[in-house]
Amino acid sequence: MYDEENLILISAIQHYRFCPRQCALIHIENIWQENQYTAEGLLLHRKAHSIQKESRHNVVFQYGLPVRSLEIGIIGKCDLVEFRYRDINNHNLINTIPIEYKRGKPKRDDYDALQLCAQSLCLEEMLNIAIHYGYLFYNKIRKRLKIYFNDNIRKQTIKIISEVRTLLDTKVVPKAIYSSICKRCSLYDQCKPEIFSKQLKTDNYLKKNIELLKL
Ligand code: SF4
Repeated sequence: MYDEENLILISAIQHYRFCPRQCALIHIENIWQENQYTAEGLLLHRKAHSIQKESRHNVVFQYGLPVRSLEIGIIGKCDLVEFRYRDINNHNLINTIPIEYKRGKPKRDDYDALQLCAQSLCLEEMLNIAIHYGYLFYNKIRKRLKIYFNDNIRKQTIKIISEVRTLLDTKVVPKAIYSSICKRCSLYDQCKPEIFSKQLKTDNYLKKNIELLKL
């Protein structure tokens, strides 16, 4: 069990999966910079959170719901949780469904699904219920994508959270490795991946040649 002061933000999962260095810059060095992608995402979440709660038929829609798991050691906020009742007046809940709003369209990477699964693990612990699936809503295609929380995704989510915790505990920011994702990174200017990657290559080259001279 983790205490309240030692919880990892659920958003760190996504940052870590995108790039461990980005995760460390944000969550160790507290560096944050908006770019087009993050600004659009922020607007989408603000819109989702502008309403707090509403109900229609037998469903309660709870927006911006804070969640946490002391067992796994994570904390965050659900964009939307749908509480579906058989009969809302009798409070007989039949289904609880977390929904996360995302900008753009479904990605090839799994980090949106892992973030949603982490929210679901929190809800399960807080409400002592089982949650079998949730949805990712992508604003570009305006469709919900159903994500099943099977054993595989649960294990994967817990594994990534453990890796994030290890990274944050070391308080060491990994070196930059320039790749195609850097162009989409909001911390490109702060990270300077091209410079550091060149430096890393030069260091490795020198190290290799010094070792050869020693032979
Ligand atoms: S610019 Fe590239 S290496 Fe640097 S934090 Fe972003 S994704 Fe990672």
